[in-house]
Order: sequence, then structure tokens, then C-alpha cells
Amino acid sequence: AEMRESRINKTKTVCTYCGVGCSFDVWTKDRKVLKVEPHPESPANGISTCVKGKFGWDYVNSEERLQKPLLRRDDHFEEVEWEEALSYVAKRMNEVKAEKGADHLGFISSSKATNEESYLMQKLARQVIGTNNIDNCSRYCQTPATKGLFRTVGHGGDSGSIDDIASAELVITIGSNTAESHPVLASRIKRSQKLFGQQLYVFDLRKHEMAKRANAFFQPKSGTDLVWLSAVTKYILDQGWEDQAFLSDWVNGFGEYRESLEPFTMDYAAKMTGIEVEELKKIAEEVATSESVAVCWAMGVTQHMRGSDTSTAISNLLLITGNYGKPGTGAYPLRGHNNVQGCSDFGSMPNFYPGYEKTTDEKVRKKYEKAWGVDLPQGTGKDNHQMIEAIHDGELSAMYVLGEDTGIVDANINYVTDAFEKLDLFIVQDLFLTKTAEYADVVLPASPSLEKDGTFTNTERRIQRLYKALDPLEGTKPDWVILQEVAKFMDFEWGYTHPSEIMSEAAGLATMFAGVSYERLEGYKSLQWPVQEDGTDEPLLFTEGFPFEDKKARLFPLDFELQYDTDEEYDLHVNNGRLLEHFHEGNMTYKSEGITRKTPNAFIEVSEELARDRGIKEGAEVKLISRAGEATGVVTVTDRVKGKEIFLPLNDNGKSAVNFLTDNRVDKDTNTPAYKEIAVKMKVLKKK
Ligand code: SF4
Repeated sequence: AEMRESRINKTKTVCTYCGVGCSFDVWTKDRKVLKVEPHPESPANGISTCVKGKFGWDYVNSEERLQKPLLRRDDHFEEVEWEEALSYVAKRMNEVKAEKGADHLGFISSSKATNEESYLMQKLARQVIGTNNIDNCSRYCQTPATKGLFRTVGHGGDSGSIDDIASAELVITIGSNTAESHPVLASRIKRSQKLFGQQLYVFDLRKHEMAKRANAFFQPKSGTDLVWLSAVTKYILDQGWEDQAFLSDWVNGFGEYRESLEPFTMDYAAKMTGIEVEELKKIAEEVATSESVAVCWAMGVTQHMRGSDTSTAISNLLLITGNYGKPGTGAYPLRGHNNVQGCSDFGSMPNFYPGYEKTTDEKVRKKYEKAWGVDLPQGTGKDNHQMIEAIHDGELSAMYVLGEDTGIVDANINYVTDAFEKLDLFIVQDLFLTKTAEYADVVLPASPSLEKDGTFTNTERRIQRLYKALDPLEGTKPDWVILQEVAKFMDFEWGYTHPSEIMSEAAGLATMFAGVSYERLEGYKSLQWPVQEDGTDEPLLFTEGFPFEDKKARLFPLDFELQYDTDEEYDLHVNNGRLLEHFHEGNMTYKSEGITRKTPNAFIEVSEELARDRGIKEGAEVKLISRAGEATGVVTVTDRVKGKEIFLPLNDNGKSAVNFLTDNRVDKDTNTPAYKEIAVKMKVLKKK
């Protein structure tokens, strides 16, 4: 027994799925993941985990893992040695740069990779290539939330901790299927409801688990959250229920903002949203009289043409009612991927260096030029969306995608994969031969989180360490090692021997991370940014004002016009979202047996009314046709959706039905695809 025991290793890691950032010990023996053991000191989750964190690890030993670099020869891939693959990558990138210019190259970082790897990806783009064309998948999800918060309160992340959400008197969730997308966080809310009668108000198109548990549930018409938020804020002001002391001490721009609210009367809001006037008044009263209010939101808000503005409206409401800077208050855009927060934080964005320091700020640029010893590009680069457009326009010829299945998760994928085919050079770095990788010229086999050291940042801005539990699978390398080798083949000697050195470099450059070091993150210790040089962090932001020169937040005036709706022909609205058991395109979860066993097949949720109207039953086969494309699927009749609302899971094992339907419309401020605004018509294939 002793012999057996001695071969079992326990290693602290951080979950590689959602943004809650659960940490735990993973038990391994040789390459086998035996179990996950929660640890009471885990700052985000204590002893809780969900099905993904517990059982979602088999993919690390999947037979489909790539173990050799692949190089395209005409119409097929050939396995090659690392040396050949890397020198090909370096040579071809140099050629594109020399022939067409640095801005003909584009880079997409991974929100599943570590902070250190995000830092190196942007360093590769900026220092080695000389372009700001770098982005990450927050462009597909939460960039609008970040924008709305930057505008109003100056930091783009969650204002407090998960503890604040759990201790708020009133929690409002908007467009967030919290129980399935952020399970452990949802459990905290459920516990608080029982423990001290926390009030939960849920706004969603779909009656999901949290909607059923809510103290009040509202189903506003798709894309109209901005309207009820603004109307509720106006009503609070009309009644004189605002927090006057907070407004006069901490908030600018009241006059103009107050005027902008004029159109948002109760009657107008009721008409636009479908929520009755009396109910809107009750919402206003509850928000105004609650001691502390925390608002959580997700893709149901952001993936719209007015995603940034709706996020802004949430922040405006919190400012008017003084719900910032005190325990249990604040704005919580719930981050999707385990490290989508960190990937943006560490500079994989076209307009920001690490720590949200602007690429257009000359002082900042000079700082990096000095540190990296090269002239750096001026202005801003292209985001994901602009890069795909630029390929179609002949202005971008090479792309380097790290751990992102863009060819499935981007909107309007026919358009995206057409772009891939036009590239002169396409480099993909991933664990698997993903749909995206199938279009590549060269594929570099990477290793997942269990096979490397590094840090992730969760939704509460909490930076946590993960330790290497397994050696990289033979033939694969951690992303930071691959990026460093690519740089070396292009004559840039970075010389890192461990990710801690990458973090030290970033901390030395980005003010926001000044006091971040691996020592301060040892074991289960963590830091919530911004972190001062002496190691002081900020679990709760804005306790002493807002990060603007005068320390005051800014109310941001908004207007509203329903820009998009269904019409007679395309008469149904398609919503989409996650399943508890799966994650995103499913590259990891569908390769984890413990999870696939528990999973339903992909389905199309249809309301009872619609099923009756079209004469279809459970199990019917239908084709959905949008203005961009079409998809077929099997019907589930349910009361989770109502009327002409249809729901599709986005995790459908690579079939990506949703993104054959989505089109090129985007949020006007951030270019985030309006995934949630698809109108379709339905053709019944088999009635059942
Ligand atoms: Fe925690 Fe999210 Fe991982 Fe589940 S998926 S264990 S909630 S971090």
C-alpha cells in the first residue's frame, strides 16, 4: 500500500473551465488523473466544485491530443519535427512582414492559457513582429461590459469579490444562466437565499434554474434591458430615492445624464420590454431600499448591438443608488473562460499593453520600447472582428491563433472560414486538430493547464497560481515555451527559464501588477488587482474613490432605438447559451468521458405555444434559416422558453449550429458579435 501511495502526487491547480476560478488539489498517478480534492483554503470556492472541475480532466490524456507539429503539404498534413515547424513559422512570418508589412499579421491569444502566456503572445506581436493586431476571445463575450465599466467607474473588472455577491441584500442577474455557466457562484447565491433571505431578481429570456429560484423573475423582450434599467433609474430619481450624499461626493455628469433619461418613462419601458409598469416600480423600490445591491450579468447583455450601452446602464443605476465601494455592492460581469480576465489584463488587446495602459499613450510606449529594446507600433491594432474583415479586404495575410477555435466560436462562421482560406500563412497552436486548425498551414501541439506552471485570473480579478501536475505529453510543449522558441527563431532571445520570470517582467512594467510575485501567490494565496508594490491588493474596488483624476465616477448618458427585431418572414428569435456539463465548442469536455456520459445531446428548445402552432412534438426535426445561414436540429418542447423564443446550446460538440445562423452585426462600441440577436424562420423536416 505504501508503494502505491508514494506514487500518487497531489498538486494545487486552478480549474480550467469557467471564470469562478475554483482551485483544488488534483491527485495524479503517472499520467492518470485520479480525483480532484477541494481545499478549505481555496479563496473562490472553499470546498465546492462543479461537474466540470470535478470530472472534466480526461481530455489531457485523450488519444486525439496532437503529439507532433503538423505542416501542410498541398492538401494534407504531415508530421514534422519541432525544429522544422518552428523555422517554417519564423521564416514565413518574416517573409510576410518583409513583403507586406507588420500589420499584415494578426494574433489571437487564448483565454484558457496563462497570464504569462498572454503576456508573451502580445510581446511576440508587438516586439518581434511590430504590430498591435492582437486580441482574445473577450471580444466575443465581455468586452462590452469592460467598456461600460471603463466609461463610468474606470476599472473594467468585477467591483468586488464573490463574497460581496454572496453578502448583498439584493442580487440582480441579467442575461446570465448562472447555475449552468458559473455553478459554484450560483450555489453561493442559493445558500445566501436560505441563510439570510438574500433577494434574487433574475432577468432573462429563458426560465432557467436560477429564474425558478428567484424571488422575482422577469422576461424582458430581447435587446431591451437598457430600457428597463434606464426607466428604473429615472423612476428612482423622480421619487427622490437616489443616494444624494454618494452622488455629490463621488459622481460627475449628473445634469446631462438626468436629461438623457427623459424618454425612459414607465409607459415607454413597459411597451418596449413587456414588463408591466407596476412591476417596474417594484423593481425600482427594491433597488432603492436595499442596503446593498450587486448586479451580475453575462452574454445575455453583452452579445447585442447595444451590449456596451446596456452594461453602461447597469453601472449608471448602481451609481445613482450609491452601490459601489461598499461590501455587498457593485458590478459583476461574470467572466466566462477561466482566464478571460487575465488574458485581457496581460495585454492581448489591440489597444492596451498589460494593465490596460493605452497603446496610444506615448509615455507607455516609450516605457516598453526601453524595456524591449525596439521601436514599437503606434496607434491601435485590429480586433478579432476587424482582422477577419481585413483578410477579406486583402489587408491581412497571416494569422497566428493560440488555443482558440475561432472557426466555430466566432459569429457567421461561413464568413470566417472563407477568410481562413484566403490567408497566405495560418499558424494554429492547440491541443487538438480543431475545426480552426484544419485550415492551418502549420499546427503546433501545446500542453494544457495541468502540464504547466503559471497563473490564472478569475472573475473577481483574483490572480492564482497553478502548478505543474503532469509533465507535458510527449511531443507537446507549454505555450510559453513555444512562443519563446518562435521568438528565438526570429532572433529575439527572451531567456525565461520559468513563468515566474515572465510575471516579474510584467509586474515591473504594468502599474496595476506592481506587487505581483510568485512568492506572494504561493500555494493557495492569491491577489486581487490592482496590487501595489508592497503587495496590498483590492478585493473591493472604489472604497476611496474611482480611478479618474478627480476620483469621481462619471454618469454616462444613453439613448435607445430598437435596431433590430424579427419580421414577418424571419419571425422567430434565437437565443443561445451554455450547458452545465459542457464548455464552449466542447474541445475539452467532449473529450472527457466522465462528462460525455452525463450529457444530453444537442437540442433546440421550442415553447409549447410554438410547438402547437407548428404542429410539432418533442423529437421533431427542424431546419432554422437565418439571413446568414442555416442549421438543423432536434426539438425539445419546454416551458423554459416562451412564445417565439428559441434556444440553442452553444456547446454542441463541434456542430456549431448557432454560428451558422449568426451574422456580421456587432456591438457598435466594441465589435463584439451580436450573437443573441438572430432572427430565423423555421422549416419542419420531420413532425415526429
Ligand atoms: Fe468552479 Fe467553474 Fe470550474 Fe465549475 S467550471 S469547478 S464553477 S471554476
